[in-house]
Amino acid sequence: EEAARAVGISKVYGSGDTAVRALDEVSVGFPSGRFTAVMGPSGSGKSTLLHCMAGLDRVTSGEVWIGDTELSGLNDRRLTLLRRERIGFVFQAFNLVPTLTAAENVELPLAIAGTRPERGWRDRVVGEFGLAKRLGHRPTELSGGEQQRVAVARALLSRPTIVFADEPTGNLDSRTSAELLGFMRRSVDEFGQTIVMVTHDPTAAGYADRALFLADGRIVHEMADPTADRVL
Ligand code: ADP
Ligand code: ADP
Repeated sequence: EEAARAVGISKVYGSGDTAVRALDEVSVGFPSGRFTAVMGPSGSGKSTLLHCMAGLDRVTSGEVWIGDTELSGLNDRRLTLLRRERIGFVFQAFNLVPTLTAAENVELPLAIAGTRPERGWRDRVVGEFGLAKRLGHRPTELSGGEQQRVAVARALLSRPTIVFADEPTGNLDSRTSAELLGFMRRSVDEFGQTIVMVTHDPTAAGYADRALFLADGRIVHEMADPTADRVL
């Protein structure tokens, strides 16, 4: 079973002489309950792939499926609803709302959607990420590692079909990165979460079940059970 799939997707930025083909007919599936790392040099299309899969950006051609829904068939309003309900996204720069507490940040997507978090599930996610004592703090009162744990907890709270993370450890030191990656790994093993993570870091990719390598907008290599020494 697949949580998401790209079928021949291309993304072209601009037009004419200055057009950039950021993705070139990429087809790939993301199996449910697995952790996929996306690697490749700067400019190879990793962020574009993530943004197109997550419905943050529209493809130029091809199909993006989240579960049994194809995104290009959705208008902007329906796409926004689908993103809220079925997709979690974690950015490199944490992207927390500075005026809200950790608890309010975690619950924000559900608050926007007008639904209440399932108490038991919220407490389990918050507990898993060691955030119980930090819930009343605002982002400026939290360390970078704590802020990113809040961001990952927020992404998990709606029990999304899939979570996309764009270099989630890019602003963290190695110890804090290892801690965050351990939490992400456990959310796959214990909650059955599906995660797709862009990373430059072979050590981070070692936490995944599978690594895809992009170059010039194409998937050029795939590796099962990546470990840091094999990825390097
Ligand atoms: P990566 O994440 O692997 O560094 P990106 O997906 O950010 O790669 O970029 C892929 C290519 O698309 C690069 O050549 C980049 O300059 C180009 N690109 C990305 N976003 C835009 C944009 N909004 N407008 C124009 N070109 C873009
Ligand atoms: P990342 O470090 O995740 O690869 P980038 O630094 O490539 O991200 O891009 C950051 C933002 O700038 C993205 O929203 C991307 O779409 C945009 N971008 C990247 N390259 C270009 C470009 N050549 N022209 C315009 N926007 C770009």
